[in-house]
Amino acid sequence: MELLARGRLQKMPVVHQTPVAYTLKVGDAALDANTLLGKPIKLVFENEIRCSNCQRLTKKSFNQGYCYPCFQKLASCDKCIMSPELCHYDQGTCREPSWGDAHCMQPHVVYLANSTGLKVGITRGTQVPTRWIDQGAIQALPIASVSTRKLSGMLENKLREWVADRTNWRKMLKHEVEEIDLLAERDKLFGEINSYLSELKSQFPDEQIEWLVSGELFNFSYPHLAWPEKAKTYNLDKTPEIEDTLMAIKGQYLIFEQACLNIRKYGAYEVSLYA
Ligand SMILES: [Zn+2]
Repeated sequence: MELLARGRLQKMPVVHQTPVAYTLKVGDAALDANTLLGKPIKLVFENEIRCSNCQRLTKKSFNQGYCYPCFQKLASCDKCIMSPELCHYDQGTCREPSWGDAHCMQPHVVYLANSTGLKVGITRGTQVPTRWIDQGAIQALPIASVSTRKLSGMLENKLREWVADRTNWRKMLKHEVEEIDLLAERDKLFGEINSYLSELKSQFPDEQIEWLVSGELFNFSYPHLAWPEKAKTYNLDKTPEIEDTLMAIKGQYLIFEQACLNIRKYGAYEVSLYA
């Protein structure tokens, strides 16, 4: 095997085409991951983790790539990112108001997606359709458009009364998923959510809150030779050297013959890649 790249592992950029095109980023190298399908690969963790924000060495990675001080300081690591309805920007307590301006006080969509069954979620308008690919969804449909992250979180929270907001990642990796009629699900939900939408609009008359009656339906297929029978995962902390054949790529996972590697989880890990 020959060394292809050495450097920090990063989240894989994706392009929405059929199938999805993945780039594997290792340091400055950007490799066409789809062309690695069917090939034996060796990935070695070089026992060094560098914070994705400040570059300092850290023993442990927090929130998928940060040192502990950055984890405590960055707005992107605050708990309101996981629970947008807790957004506290209005109270003047945002950890980084300029980051909040660029990421939270921006148009968001509420969507239905199908990774392993019907789920509801939110994303910033500019993250469409990347967000769904990162989750390994096979279908997605924007159902509402609102002017801030907080509003999308409030709407999502309400929709959770009828729809799950979680993905079963084991099923996602095994590709155990059936197509769903998302348009019909959307229309069914509108009957349930209609009065809450009116409430929200009167509570926030200056904000944009729009139910999308004709949102664009997205479909995704992922590069694969075969799907795994068991959803086992590699842990680079325990197994710093992986040698395996790449069989598929889905979400942010490299799916090998023996087990799967969540690239996102190991963002900031220094690795060497051989093929
Ligand atoms: Zn840091």
